[in-house]
Parts: sequence; C-alpha cells; structure tokens
Amino acid sequence: MPVLSGKVGLIVGVANKRSIAWAIAQAAAAEGARLVLTYQGERLEENVRELAATLEGAVVLPCDVTDDAQVDALFAAVEEQCGGLDFLVHAVAFAQRDDLTRPFVETSRDGFRVALDVSAYSLVALSRRAAPIMERRGGGSILTLSYLGSQRVFTNYNVMGVAKAALEACVRYLASDLGPKGIRVNAISAGPIKTLAAAGISGFSAILQTYRDRAPLRKTVELQEVADAAIFLLGPAGRGVTAEVLLVDGGFHAMGI
Ligand code: NAD
Repeated sequence: MPVLSGKVGLIVGVANKRSIAWAIAQAAAAEGARLVLTYQGERLEENVRELAATLEGAVVLPCDVTDDAQVDALFAAVEEQCGGLDFLVHAVAFAQRDDLTRPFVETSRDGFRVALDVSAYSLVALSRRAAPIMERRGGGSILTLSYLGSQRVFTNYNVMGVAKAALEACVRYLASDLGPKGIRVNAISAGPIKTLAAAGISGFSAILQTYRDRAPLRKTVELQEVADAAIFLLGPAGRGVTAEVLLVDGGFHAMGI
C-alpha cells in the first residue's frame, strides 16, 4: 500500500526538473499523494505546469513567499480545491548574488534581510497558514531543506549559511508550537546537488568534488536519495520524529581531518 495514499501535499520550490522539490513531488506522487505545486512568478510557470502535467490530478498555483497576499490566496485555494492538507514541503532559498561572492563581512543590511526573509521566515509564514488546515485533518507533517553551511563555514555560502541556521532554529520552535496539534516539523540537510539555486554559489564544483573525495560514502548525494528520506519524514514511518535536522549527505558532516 503506498504510504501517502489519500494524503494531500503542498510542494513549494519547484523551478525545473533538477529541483529537489520536484524529486520529492515525484516520490510523493508515486506513494499515492495528491499534490499542489507552486511556481514563483510567470518566468517559472510554464516549467512547473509542464512537470505537474505528468502527475495525476496535480494542481498548480502561484506563490511568491515574500508576498503575504499570494500566500493567503494559496492556502485559501488549497482548502477550496483539495478540501484539506496533510503535508507541506518548503524548498525555497534565495540570496543576492553579491552576498554569495564577496566576503561575508561585506553583507549588506538589505542582502541579509532578503536572504533571511525568503529562506527562513517563509517557513514560518507557510506553516502558520498550513497548521489550522492540517489540524482539521488530525495533524500533518512539514519539511524544509537545509544545508551544513548552517553549522560550518563554506566559502561563498555566506549569508545563506546564516539563513539556514535561522531556518533550523525555526524548525525547532515550530515543532514545539505545532506538536500538540499533531503536526511534525523537520528538515533534511542535504549534501550538495547541482540545481538552479546551487548554480548561484561560486566554486560549487569544488564543493562537489570535496564530498566525492571525503564523504564516507565517497559520492555526492542523489536527488532520489533526498526524496526517499523526505518520504520517511512526511509519511507514517516518521511519526515519532519532529524538531529534527536529518543529514542526507553521505556522512560528510561526520568527517574531521
Ligand atoms: P532550485 O533552484 O531548484 O529551488 C529553489 C526554489 O526556491 C526555486 O523553485 C525558486 O523558485 C524558489 N524561490 C526562491 N525565491 C522564492 C520566492 N520569493 N518565492 C517562492 N519561491 C522562491 O534549487 P534546490 O537546490 O532544489 O533548492 C531547494 C532547497 O534545497 C533550498 O532551500 C536549498 O537551499 C536547499 N538545498 C539545496 C542543496 C543543493 O546543493 N542544491 C543542498 C542543501 C539544501
């Protein structure tokens, strides 16, 4: 029996077929979930519609997470069109290019604000709207995507590392608030994968090579491996897990010299 059958999931963060969110969407659909996918702005709409057309019954809606009116409209449409919500995947991050190339100490006030707003606060904004809809179904599961740059310094990751540290703290505070309603909140901290967002980090290829050389599994993580871990956290097998940051990185995080 597919583990997400009868469940409705909202997936925020599909840009193209390389997106981690798209790998999770495909895995969730294969496990029987009915999905709502969102796109950020008209530039990405066609991509997302084409991908969603390959999933049975998927609904496509706009959502720029910095726009409260769009976020409100998204959740109203989810309730109206799907009648409820069981899980939410937040796979959204952004920092201004300058802040991913200059030394971290040069981060501007505005660059800091934008990175933290899009990449960390958005989880709070989405979770607040999702919670009452999930509560009416007896609970739910919320999942976000993080990176080890939250804990350690990675060259050029800069303000995004600070945003991921905030995001992981948000996971713990949200898990505490929403746990009594039966809603779990977790993150997967994925190893590096070549996606659109990753293309913004200069020197990304060198990071990939370092993982191949040094991670215990001697390889970089694949989209499907992250998606499989996501299904565990979203589905019934993860029912005892909340407030957790699960590292899916081939073990790289454990290595010292
Ligand atoms: P991606 O570029 O495919 O996805 C990033 C998504 O964020 C895009 O769909 C983009 O539209 C969305 N986004 C940015 N600003 C937004 C806004 N204002 N409103 C709505 N959506 C917005 O890249 P990805 O690597 O799949 O990234 C997904 C998540 O995974 C991110 O949180 C990223 O930090 C995280 N992550 C990625 C890696 C990696 O190496 N690729 C590793 C660990 C964690």
